[in-house]
Amino acid sequence: MNALTPSNEVQPPSEPIADQKRPVRILTAFLHKETIPHALLFTGIDGVGKNRIATLLAMTANCAQAPPARNGTELSQPAGLHPCGACRSCRKIEKGIHPDIVRIQPDGRTIRIHQIRTLIETLSLKPMEARRRFVIVEQADTMRPAAANALLKTLEEPPDRTILILLAGQPADLLPTIVSRCRHVRFHPVSVQSIAERLERVHGVPAADATLAAAAADGSFTRALEITEPGWVAWRDWLIAASGLDSPHTLPQKPLGELLAFAEQLTKNKSRLPEALETMAGWLRDLIVIRHDTSKVTSTDRLDDLQALYGRLPVEFLIAKIDVIREAQKSIETNSNLRLTLEAMVLRLSQDCAKDKRLNSN
Ligand SMILES: [Zn+2]
Repeated sequence: MNALTPSNEVQPPSEPIADQKRPVRILTAFLHKETIPHALLFTGIDGVGKNRIATLLAMTANCAQAPPARNGTELSQPAGLHPCGACRSCRKIEKGIHPDIVRIQPDGRTIRIHQIRTLIETLSLKPMEARRRFVIVEQADTMRPAAANALLKTLEEPPDRTILILLAGQPADLLPTIVSRCRHVRFHPVSVQSIAERLERVHGVPAADATLAAAAADGSFTRALEITEPGWVAWRDWLIAASGLDSPHTLPQKPLGELLAFAEQLTKNKSRLPEALETMAGWLRDLIVIRHDTSKVTSTDRLDDLQALYGRLPVEFLIAKIDVIREAQKSIETNSNLRLTLEAMVLRLSQDCAKDKRLNSN
């Protein structure tokens, strides 16, 4: 094995965790007191640093150069997860090749029971080289009840020197029996300023683009990065036009063939579907918030269009359309037929759903 690289030559990894002071403080206190709970649940929207902080925790807990457990007097020092980033353990974890840092990701749309069974077998063996073995379950909210139930016993009595970290959107998306067995750590959306600043400083994004992406990212750094990719603005503009949301009041006149063709394009581009639906909902939300505060608008580059449009669209009408998108998102998460769901969504969007709602409530 190579000699250790001197730590001052390798910068510790830095990711958008600047806004996550509270989670970092809690986790650092666990580390310093050597009382890391065996089961942790990190919740928060995608792209706020949950995965990165889980990785940094695993690195710090196993770093060859990390200070040993500190006594009480030193706990007043600034909190932080600061692995050296250079030792053998740090580098293996960073590269994703450490045998004792196990990651579980959805197989398709869900985490399946066979994955949990394989994990339990792996955990029946002792850790190979880590001081502490970590299991990071990404998108834990995609576990179906059978998989979640299979994990319960491990969460309750994890094997020696093993810590499980579940990453999820919100606790309500998990079985209560899972949540109750974990120490819950909440992650908040990243502030617009932090996202913009980081896009500029670390990723070299021009200031105007960084501002647009940060405003449109809903507190998710990952989403902001996607938005800064070349072609994103053109893609969003296509999405808004093809869905007919550039003039929602004329949607009922849009030919059925065009609407179904749009649904088909969404179906085909599955990897971008979650982002597409969020972007459509974000546009409708812009048409609501622009009445009160233009600084809250996310499509800052389309302010003129939004201003020309919103007066024709009652808030109730816009909320009903956002509800249609939210319902489609939920159906997709529960594994319903993608094409049918999206066709139903575009057809319902094209109806005058505000009127429907009034009729239904009478
Ligand atoms: Zn290290």
